Amino acid sequence: MPGLTAEIVLEGATFAYDKRYTYLVPPDMQKQIAPGMRVIVPFGGGNRKKQGMVLSLAQKELKGLKPVFSLTDREPVLTEEMCRLCEYMRETCFCTYYDAVKAMLPAGLNYKLVTFFSANPDYDPALLDESDAGIYRFLLKKGETAGDVLQKRFEVEEDNLQALCKEGALYAADSPKRRVGDMTVKFVRPAFDHAQLPDLQVTPRRREVLELVCAAGSVSVKEVQYYTGVSDSVIKGLINEGLLTVFEKQTYRAAFSTAGEGSKDPIRLTEEQSVAFEGLMAEYRKAEGKPSLLYGITGSGKTKVFLRLVDEVCQEGRGVIVMVPEISLTPQLLSIFTSRYGDKVAIFHSAMSMGKRLDEWRRVKNGDATIAIGTRSAVFAPFSDLGLIIIDEEQETTYKSEQSPRFHARELARFRAAYHKGLLCLASATPSLESFAAAKSGRYSLFTLRERYGNAVLPQVETVDMRKEILSGNTSCISRRLYELTKETLEAKRQAILLLNRRGHHTYISCPDCGTVATCPHCSITLTYHSANKRLMCHYCGYSIPATAKCPNCAGEHMKYLGLGTQKAEEEIAKLFPDARVLRLDADSTLARDSYAEYLSAFAAGEYDILLGTQMVAKGLDFPNVTLVGVLGADNAAYSEDFKSYERTFSLLTQVVGRAGRGENKGLAVVQTMDPANNIISLAAKQDYESFYEQEILTRQLMTYPPYCDLCLVVARAQEREAAKSTIEEIFQNIKVKTEREFAEVKLIILGPTAAAIPKVNDRYRYRMLIKCRANKAFRQMLREALAVRLRQGVTVSVDIAPETVS
Ligand code: ADP
Ligand code: ZN
Repeated sequence: MPGLTAEIVLEGATFAYDKRYTYLVPPDMQKQIAPGMRVIVPFGGGNRKKQGMVLSLAQKELKGLKPVFSLTDREPVLTEEMCRLCEYMRETCFCTYYDAVKAMLPAGLNYKLVTFFSANPDYDPALLDESDAGIYRFLLKKGETAGDVLQKRFEVEEDNLQALCKEGALYAADSPKRRVGDMTVKFVRPAFDHAQLPDLQVTPRRREVLELVCAAGSVSVKEVQYYTGVSDSVIKGLINEGLLTVFEKQTYRAAFSTAGEGSKDPIRLTEEQSVAFEGLMAEYRKAEGKPSLLYGITGSGKTKVFLRLVDEVCQEGRGVIVMVPEISLTPQLLSIFTSRYGDKVAIFHSAMSMGKRLDEWRRVKNGDATIAIGTRSAVFAPFSDLGLIIIDEEQETTYKSEQSPRFHARELARFRAAYHKGLLCLASATPSLESFAAAKSGRYSLFTLRERYGNAVLPQVETVDMRKEILSGNTSCISRRLYELTKETLEAKRQAILLLNRRGHHTYISCPDCGTVATCPHCSITLTYHSANKRLMCHYCGYSIPATAKCPNCAGEHMKYLGLGTQKAEEEIAKLFPDARVLRLDADSTLARDSYAEYLSAFAAGEYDILLGTQMVAKGLDFPNVTLVGVLGADNAAYSEDFKSYERTFSLLTQVVGRAGRGENKGLAVVQTMDPANNIISLAAKQDYESFYEQEILTRQLMTYPPYCDLCLVVARAQEREAAKSTIEEIFQNIKVKTEREFAEVKLIILGPTAAAIPKVNDRYRYRMLIKCRANKAFRQMLREALAVRLRQGVTVSVDIAPETVS
C-alpha cells in the first residue's frame, strides 16, 4: 500500500555508504514533517538511532520500510534550495550529504545524539553483580545520566549498559544534545592570588605557565602554548586543579572605526564607477544574468560600487551576501557596512562565539537581517530570497575550504545566484586567471575601473637588487635605498608599511659539524627559531623545543641560525631606526585574534610609524598617511613549485604596492629582490594585471593547467608510509583500468602517484596524484567507482576538485 515516505541522508555515513535512504513517515508525524528538517531514524540490523536530514517527501510503496523515529526540528532548518545545494555539493565536492548539511548549519545548531540511562526503580538490584549494581545505585540516586559519562566513570562499554536495559534494570532514551564549547577561543586567567605564586608546589613546566598567566592577566590558550611549549593537557591539568580559570572571550569586536566613511549619505559615484554600477544593475535585472567580474585597480573605489548595489537590492527587500577573504583583515569594510546599514547587517565569522553565530544565522533566517557579511561560510546565509552575492578579492585562497566538504565559495555562490536569479559579483584588482579568462570569453560579464579615486595616483615603484647590496657589504634586511626612503618618510611624519612573508626569527637552523638541519620529528619540514619565546617551532603542527647551540645529532655546540623572518627584521629595524615606533603583525603577534583590529586602529591613529608584517599587512587596508611601502623579500613565493605561485606573488605585490599613496600624498614603493630581471615584479610595479594575465595564461596553456583543464587532487594519508602509498597506487590502477574500458570517453592526464611535497605532516604520510581532466559527470562517476577500494585501518583518502595548491 502506498503512503508518505521521506528521503533521508544520515550523519556519520562513510563515503561508500552515503545515499538517500527511504523511511516511512508515521501518521502522527505527517502533518509536521517537511524537507529540511532533521530527524532521528533507526538504522542497520541493530536499529541504532541515527540523526538524518529529510531532503524530500514522496508517496511510495511502504513495504519493508522502517519508520522515522522522531523529529528533531519543529520547522525546517534548510530551505528547498539548500536541500538541492546539498545534493550539488555531494556531487561536485566528493563529500557526504551530511558533510554538506553540517557546513550549511551554524555549529550551535548541530546536535549530537546521546543515549541517556536511568534506573528502573521496580528492579531488584540483588539480581546484579557487584559492578552492575554500582551503576544501578548510582543512577537511582543521580537520575538520568548520559551514556558517555557512565562509560568513563564505571569503565564499561555501551554494550554493557544496553545489556542492563535488556535485563530490565535500566532504561535508555536517545535524545539530541546540543554540542557546545568547541570552536571558540579559550582564555585562561589565574585562579589564585599572585602573591602565592612563589610558594606554590608545582613542576617547573607548570610554574612557567602560571608565571606567564600571572604576568599577562589573561592569555589565550594558544598563546600559552606558543610561549611555553606545553601541551593542551598541562593546561587542562591546571584548570582541573583549580589553579587556572578558563573562559571564552567574545573574540569579535568591531573595534576599528573609520569616521564618516560609513555614513548613510548618498554616494556620488565617479563617471567610471557609474558605468560599472549601471552595467552591473542591468545584469541584475536580466532574468538569466551572468556572473559578473568587477575588475578595478587598487584604490579605484570598488567598495563604493558595492554599496550602491547593496542599496538597490536591499530596497527591493532581497537578501545580500558580501564575502571577504578574512574578516579580521578587513575591519574597515566591516565598519563601513555596519555604520551604513546598522542592524540589518549580520556577521558570519568563525571567531565569534557559537551562541552569537547562531543568533546571526537566525536573524537572517527570520528576515531581521538582510545583509550577511563574512568569510566563505557566509555563502550559506539562509536567505529565502537572495538578490546579490559579492565576493571581494575573489582570487584569495581562503574562499576554498581545505577540509571536507572541499567547496569553493565562488562555485556555491554561482549555484545560489542562479537559483534565485540574483547577481553574483566577483571583484578584484588581480582576479584569478580562471575568472579573468571566463570574463574575456564572455562567460562572465566584465566591468572595469582603471582610475584611482580622486587625486590619488599609483605609487612609483623601484626595485633594488639585493645581490649587489650583499656584495657591497650590506647584510642587513634593509637596502641602503630603502633605509634612506624610510628615514625621509619618518622625518616627514608619514608612515611606512614593510612586508616580509616569513614569520619567526631565523628560518633555517643547521649544524656545520655534521650537516644536520633542525626539522620537526612529526613533519618533514624545517623548524623556525622564534626569539619571542626562544624556541624552535614547527609551523605545521606547532611542535617546539627550546633553542640551544647544541646539535641534537652530534652534540656539537655550533648550531648556526640563518634566514630572515619577521621577528629578526623587527630587531634590525629597531637598530636602524631607534626612534621609530614599530608594530609587528603576523600570526604570532596576533594570536589572540581580536588584537589585530586594535593594533590596526592604533596604527591608523598614528601611534606607530612603521607597520611590519607578513601578507596580513598587504590586504585591504586604507591608511592615507602611508606613503612608503617596502617589500623586504619578494622571491620566496615565486619559486615554490605550485602552478599558482606566480599569480599569488603578482597579486600580493600589487596589493601591497597599492597600500601606498592612497591619500593626498604621493606614494612610493621599494621592492627588494634577488632576481630583479623577473618581470612579475616590474608588472606588479606598474599594476599591469592585463600584461601579467597575457603572459601567465600562455604558460597555463603550454603546461595544461586551469583554465585549460580542471584539476583533481587525490591524497591518501596514513601513519605508515606503505599504507598511504599502496592505497593511492590501487586507486591509480583502478582509474587506468576504468578509463581503458567502460569510461573510455574520459580523457585525463595523471601526474603521479608520488609522495606529497611535504611527505609527512603530524606523523601522517601523504601520497598523492594530480589528475588533469574535465571534471564533468562522466569523470566524477568514474572516479567515484575507482575510489571504492578497501581502506586499511587508519587510512584516509581525500578528493579535492580545483585545489588551490597542488604541491
Ligand atoms: P578599492 O577597494 O577599489 O581598492 P576603495 O573602495 O577602498 O578602493 O576606495 C579607495 C578610496 O577612495 C577610499 O578611501 C574611498 O572612500 C575613496 N572613494 C572611492 N570612490 C569614491 C566616491 N565615489 N566618493 C567618495 N570617495 C570615494
Ligand atoms: Zn611538525
